[in-house]
Amino acid sequence: MEVAIIGGGIAGLTAAYRLCRQGVRVTVFEKDSQPGGQLATFNANGAPLERFYHHIFRGDKDVIGLIEELGLGPRLRWLPSTVAFHHAGRTYPFVTPGDLLRFAPLSPLDRLRLGLVTLYLQRQRNWRPLESIPAREWLVKYAGKRAYSVVWEPLLQSKFGEKAGEVTMAWFWGRIHVRLGSRGEGMRHEVLGYLDGSFGQITDGLARRINEGGGKIALSTPAKRIALGDGRVAEVETVKGSLPFDAVIATIASDSFAEMVPEMPPDYRDKLRAVSYQTAQCLVLKLKNRLTPFYWVNVGDPSMPFLAVVEHTNFMPPENYAGKHIVYLPQYLDSSSPWLQMDKKQLVERFSPFLARFNPAFTNDWVEQSFLFREPSAQPVVPVNYSRLLPPHQTPIAGLYLANTTQIYPEDRGINYSVRLGNRVSELIVDSR
Ligand SMILES: Cc1cc2nc3c(=O)[nH]c(=O)nc-3n(C[C@H](O)[C@H](O)[C@H](O)COP(=O)(O)OP(=O)(O)OC[C@H]3O[C@@H](n4cnc5c(N)ncnc54)[C@H](O)[C@@H]3O)c2cc1C
Repeated sequence: MEVAIIGGGIAGLTAAYRLCRQGVRVTVFEKDSQPGGQLATFNANGAPLERFYHHIFRGDKDVIGLIEELGLGPRLRWLPSTVAFHHAGRTYPFVTPGDLLRFAPLSPLDRLRLGLVTLYLQRQRNWRPLESIPAREWLVKYAGKRAYSVVWEPLLQSKFGEKAGEVTMAWFWGRIHVRLGSRGEGMRHEVLGYLDGSFGQITDGLARRINEGGGKIALSTPAKRIALGDGRVAEVETVKGSLPFDAVIATIASDSFAEMVPEMPPDYRDKLRAVSYQTAQCLVLKLKNRLTPFYWVNVGDPSMPFLAVVEHTNFMPPENYAGKHIVYLPQYLDSSSPWLQMDKKQLVERFSPFLARFNPAFTNDWVEQSFLFREPSAQPVVPVNYSRLLPPHQTPIAGLYLANTTQIYPEDRGINYSVRLGNRVSELIVDSR
């Protein structure tokens, strides 16, 4: 059996690895010149680093299992995270229940409500009753208007922009539930996982095993079209020519997939088209000095253009990057946003004045180098009753499968769930033989 996999991100590579182990012949087509997709790395001062900040949670069993399987277990570090919240010119630590009780922008009653709502979401296991309710409505009702507008509105707004009001409470539940599952007893501290030497080692390890198993990874080879014959999958057409296959797994964005198969039956096509994405844009700065004492500062100030200040070197120390300090400044944007037209120099100019609010000593000459990364299909927008929109892995076309981030629900997308997608879809193919 010959299987094509379109997309060499973590989902595609996991599926390819599993299939190789079952004796299936696989070819992965990846449009980029390196594998990894949203988990791809770049050279940050001599060391590989993710283009977009990455960590994993204690409950991320699928990716932890894969890390162990690839022999990378000894490199997995569980480190305490330090989180803060920036509001009205001040940065407040936001890690422990004590931090919440001291969070001055909210009244004592609002702090209590916020704490109780968070606890409820952590304990609640059944997300189904939440899926027909917009997150905004539920949070205002139970946490109160003030807690919503100070803490959660900026987060929802900066992630989903104008679509924030559509987002289902089930998605919000997924985020809180998973995140709080990464805390120790009594919610006192949070630990996050990182692979010493970058998560790029997972993609490298998978690629090596795929090659050893006789599979092929065709880089810089965008797929253009999936051709059918006798009503089932027949060929994949790429920029370098067409090849015949018995089955195809697409791990690419739903809109691109719909375009690749013009014969897709309307019901399935409608599901593919119903999902929209927010683009992620990340400016990464290499700084001379430490900017903040925190790994992650959530920005609750709509006048700032970025939604967080993620200081990676407060998680993995600067010694890993020849003593430099690495800061990610992320934005989630609609594809029409003017921010996406700017180059890194323009973004550094626009962002720098805000950085002094996190550290008054900051001056522009701290910035030694900058990098800019964009991912157009970064965040699927998850509206109410999203489960009705979910396309199944098996499409109505025989031999054609979809395994992409829109199928992750109610959890927020993450590498753990893409590994799970790869595991599941490869099982479907093996079972179909
Ligand atoms: C800013 C940001 C921060 C994140 N932080 C975290 C985090 O802390 N923890 C976490 O677990 N997850 C995080 N994630 C999410 C995580 O990176 C993704 O969920 C995961 O990597 C998705 O993997 P995937 O294989 O499903 O999709 P992708 O990585 O999107 O892979 C799809 C692949 O298809 C390729 N492709 C597209 N079109 C074609 C074509 N026509 N032909 C051939 N190839 C094509 C793409 O180049 C890509 O390599 C983050 C994502 C972003 C954007």
